[in-house]
Formats: sequence, C-alpha cells, structure tokens
Amino acid sequence: MRRLKPTPRRASGFASLGSGSRGNGTLVAIGGSLFLVDCGFPLKQAEARLGRLGVRPGDLTAVLVTHEHSDHASGVPDLTHKYGLPVYASNGTFKAVGHELIGHTVHGDQPFDVNGVTIMPVTVPHDARESVQFVFYHANLKIGVVSDLGCVTPHVIDQYSGCDGILMESNHDREMLMRGRYPIRLKRRIASDLGHLSNDQARDFLTAIAHPRLEVVVGHVSAQNNHSDLLRRTFAQFDTSVACLSFATQQDGCGWTHFADSSGSSIPVAFGHAV
Ligand SMILES: [Zn+2]
Ligand SMILES: [Zn+2]
Repeated sequence: MRRLKPTPRRASGFASLGSGSRGNGTLVAIGGSLFLVDCGFPLKQAEARLGRLGVRPGDLTAVLVTHEHSDHASGVPDLTHKYGLPVYASNGTFKAVGHELIGHTVHGDQPFDVNGVTIMPVTVPHDARESVQFVFYHANLKIGVVSDLGCVTPHVIDQYSGCDGILMESNHDREMLMRGRYPIRLKRRIASDLGHLSNDQARDFLTAIAHPRLEVVVGHVSAQNNHSDLLRRTFAQFDTSVACLSFATQQDGCGWTHFADSSGSSIPVAFGHAV
C-alpha cells in the first residue's frame, strides 16, 4: 500500500467540478484522502473550480484518469505537474495521453490501495484505448464514479451495486440525438455500445442498483442532445427509491454530497476554506 499525503479532515463525500463533453472533474473525499477523478479543464479553470468547492489543488491526494479523451484528461498534466500530484491511470491511457503524463499504472478490475482507501478500476465499454471508471471503498462507505460507457454490462452493475453515492452518466435522449444536427458517423458513435449512455439506459442502470440510502448525481449530460425536462421525467420514478437525486451541469458541476463517517456521525464541514 502506498502512503501518500493524507488530509487531516475526515468528511466524506463527492462533488463535481463540472460535467459534460467540454470538461469533467469529480472530487471524492473518503477515508481522510481527497481524490480528483479526471480533469478536463485548463489549469486556471481547474484551480477556480476546485476553489469553488473549497479545495486547494495541494489538498489533493492523487488524480485518477479514466481515459484519454480531452474532456477527461486534457487538464491533468498541467495540474499534476504544477502541484506535484501523483497520477493513476491504465497503461493504455498513459500511452494515449503521451509522454507528458507519467504515474502509477492501474489494471482493470484489479483493486489497489492508497492511504487505506481501496480503489477499484472498473473496465467499461467505451471507444478509448483502455477505459476504466472508479469505485472507492473505505470502512463501510462505497462511492462510485461512472461515465463514458456505451452500455451497461452485468460487470458494471455488479461493481456499482451497493454504492452509498454515485456520479453516473445520462448523456442523451436517443430521439434527440438521431433527429439532431450531428453528422451520422458521430450519431452512430455516441449511440453505439462503445459510446455514451442514453437516458433510457441510465434509467435501467439506476433501476438495477437503486436502494433507499443511495445518493445519486446524474452527469455528463449532452448540451445538444438532451433536455432538463426529459431528464427530470426519466428520473422522476426514483423519487422514493433513492435518498436523493440531483444533476451536475457543465458550468457549475454540483456541490458536495456528504456522508456520515465510519463512526456514524455526520460531518457537516466540507474540505478546505471557502465552501
Ligand atoms: Zn467524456
Ligand atoms: Zn470519453
């Protein structure tokens, strides 16, 4: 197990710096550590978005990269170089991003530990070199991040079942995509099993993993091929079957979702300074 810089605060939760095809970043605070999953924002913007959530970049324990697409990886080299942050990604992701990014190689479906937090890189179907998404475990807490997948495999359902919190993709309405202005090749790519989840696919996924304590944030919503009314209609059925459900936007992401710590007491204090 690697010992990296632990953070002194014990609050657990997750938050989004922004979510969508123009940039993604998800914070996961768990077990006293603070992880950033992906950074698809230029340095100044990433710093500002972190600041909005009360986080200084130097507070981060590590940055994990799901895959090489620019909305997930473009900001990682600058951020991690400037602040000397460790990076974790698959071999395929490191190769695809290029020599500007070095770090710890993770392997699909082989869990690893950082500061006592167990992290599972979950293989997902997506048209990148070696995509993984991440599930974090500490004590009784399980937090999952999953976007950029073309279909929900039994393996994905298995890995994300029992989460306390999840940030999950609901990218497009299939009809809007097919009727929209995108070139046919791009439409086919997005709708394929290696593209992105439609609202219907996301609804079926959530149906499979929903439980009354689950805190859900829906993200990676297409600006062109989706609509907030459609999303709300799709997910209205979960009003009583999950603890809460909110939406992360491209511009604002979403604020912290908090969990009780392992001793069972709820900690209302978020990370850092200006929350
Ligand atoms: Zn993406
Ligand atoms: Zn992608």
